[in-house]
Amino acid sequence: MNCPSCNKEVVADKLFCTWCEDFIPNPQAGKKAGLFRRWFATTIDPLLGIILYVVIAGVLGGAASTLGGGAAVSTIIMVTIGYGIFFLWFLSKGMTPGKWILGEQVVEKLSGKHPGFWRMVLRETIGKFVSGIFLGLGYFWAIWDKDNQAWHDKIAGTVVVKRR
Ligand SMILES: [Zn+2]
Repeated sequence: MNCPSCNKEVVADKLFCTWCEDFIPNPQAGKKAGLFRRWFATTIDPLLGIILYVVIAGVLGGAASTLGGGAAVSTIIMVTIGYGIFFLWFLSKGMTPGKWILGEQVVEKLSGKHPGFWRMVLRETIGKFVSGIFLGLGYFWAIWDKDNQAWHDKIAGTVVVKRR
């Protein structure tokens, strides 16, 4: 079998071209995403959440003294819901905020299409839980996996690509 992008010979069941790193089932979807970049995205996501809460806590510290504690609590609840919706919107696009910043995309591994909302939820919840329970072995799996799939990718049937 030959790569649709560079036409060089590739092993039949590989998802990424050995030569040009394009995603063979659908080269338009992107290229193989570097592992370092992927892990960086994984650390950005919780960091964004922490930064958001630190900023809000600072603002609320001022607001609580003028508006009272009740207003502060309801603001925290509203911001939590707001961030939750923002995060779920990214998931429905096959991304997390960190992946969006770094130009990455999760795609369905056979078609290269958007994995869909529920597949992303499966990947980010049960999938990442399973990847994490053996000292994070499921994350490191992507190092030696032929398609760079972590366990949560295998569970959800996805791969991570670098967007074009
Ligand atoms: Zn190629």
